[in-house]
Amino acid sequence: MAHDADVIVVGAGVAGLVAAQRLQAHGLTTLVLEARERVGGRLLRHTLSDSVVIDLGGQWLGPTQERAYALARELGLTLFPTYTEGENLALLGGRVQRYAGTVPKLGIGALFDFGSAVAKLDRMAKQVPLDAPWNAPHAEAWDSETLASWAQHTMRTHLGRWGIRLFSEAVFAAEPSEFSLLHALFYIHSGGGFESLTNTRGGAQQDRFVEGAQSLALRLAAQLGERVRLNQPVVRIQHAAQGVCVATRSGATYTARAVIVAIPPTLAGRIEYDPPLPAVRDQLTQRLPNGAVIKCFAVYDRPFWREQGLSGFAVAECDPVHLVFDNSPPDASCGILLGFVEGAQARQMSAVDPETRRTVVLECFARLFGERARQPEAYIDHDWSAEVWSRGCYGAHFPPGVWTQFGRALREPIGRIVWAGTETATRWMGYIDGAIESGERAAQEVLTTL
Ligand SMILES: Cc1cc2nc3c(=O)[nH]c(=O)nc-3n(C[C@H](O)[C@H](O)[C@H](O)COP(=O)(O)OP(=O)(O)OC[C@H]3O[C@@H](n4cnc5c(N)ncnc54)[C@H](O)[C@@H]3O)c2cc1C
Repeated sequence: MAHDADVIVVGAGVAGLVAAQRLQAHGLTTLVLEARERVGGRLLRHTLSDSVVIDLGGQWLGPTQERAYALARELGLTLFPTYTEGENLALLGGRVQRYAGTVPKLGIGALFDFGSAVAKLDRMAKQVPLDAPWNAPHAEAWDSETLASWAQHTMRTHLGRWGIRLFSEAVFAAEPSEFSLLHALFYIHSGGGFESLTNTRGGAQQDRFVEGAQSLALRLAAQLGERVRLNQPVVRIQHAAQGVCVATRSGATYTARAVIVAIPPTLAGRIEYDPPLPAVRDQLTQRLPNGAVIKCFAVYDRPFWREQGLSGFAVAECDPVHLVFDNSPPDASCGILLGFVEGAQARQMSAVDPETRRTVVLECFARLFGERARQPEAYIDHDWSAEVWSRGCYGAHFPPGVWTQFGRALREPIGRIVWAGTETATRWMGYIDGAIESGERAAQEVLTTL
């Protein structure tokens, strides 16, 4: 029987597009079905002016993300370092302090508490096998509590625990009470260690794309041409030993020898499968919630904080913004502060009207950087939980019990259905690099199967 393509890919995020590109390179035909009216998924560029592009979604690359750097080079994209000159700010206990280096002046007790917790997490993380976290030596115990409960019984200071909460929000867009200790350890190992995840220079926030990170997807899609079809939400996948039939919401159907589902697990669970998937796979996707994040940008005529010797980076006990970066363009032709609203704060702010959100975010910027910060020339924010084809970000997190009880179903192909997406990566899960790894692995699995 003639198929519409050898392989159908569901989702034109980086993972799906890389999978399609690799399969095409091996001589297989592909069809990429994308629900949105655009490609890139969790990558989304926004043009402020001719020369200024900001990323409403994913934006940074850092050391050891070799796949992402290689793809950026291959596609002719340009990277530049995140601005880090000068001192950082911390707003703690109602007081703003300047500090150099990576950790604010917490006081000797809290510093020791935080430092030894991080060292413990790094040590335990190394024991978690990236391809099978459920085989870690203490997997059952580590998967039966949350990062928050671990911090509660291991740490002694309020500020030390606050540091762990900040880490959790910044890296998972979730509260430490939402996911298991085993997941935290897996993720730390997957991203090369605590500092590798949290640092700007030398860490995951090191480099930005001049053209915006979505350009990765836009250029891959341009190579694939009409093989990428937009506005095609997949609602049903019929699968058998000979191949698959994929139906979209409009009623169109496409057949292929195999399908790669390259979307977040919770959305993969909303597709109807015929015959139904094994219970363990369905129960897995019932249990993988996405984090919650709102990225907030304030645009000024220039990065005025740099004139005061400030880097623009800040950590703050100031709801709803706990983390701020200098997100100005490489030529500093304007100044941009980027505030992250994450986890519980993001859920609260998702429900308030845009004007109130703007006011409370700018209030935090003003407390940190002075009154000047309250009057930007433009303000833009983007709530990823409201995006129907993401339903939260940066990615999925694993609550207690999920890795050990259901983890085996995460990547295991089911007949002609193969799973991709950053959540299925072993290295840099949750990141662009992990999405690329997953696309490459899925393509390889299909090549082996066919
Ligand atoms: C605010 C934010 C900040 C981030 N920061 C960073 C960062 O700095 N560095 C970094 O490396 N990563 C970052 N990330 C994470 C990074 O963006 C993701 O890991 C990566 O883009 C995921 O790619 P993916 O292809 O796996 O999934 P997605 O990008 O989610 O792609 C899935 C695609 O499938 C489509 N889809 C969903 N359901 C269906 C369906 N039923 N039918 C058809 N199509 C469907 C979606 O529309 C989407 O286009 C961030 C993410 C966000 C949102």
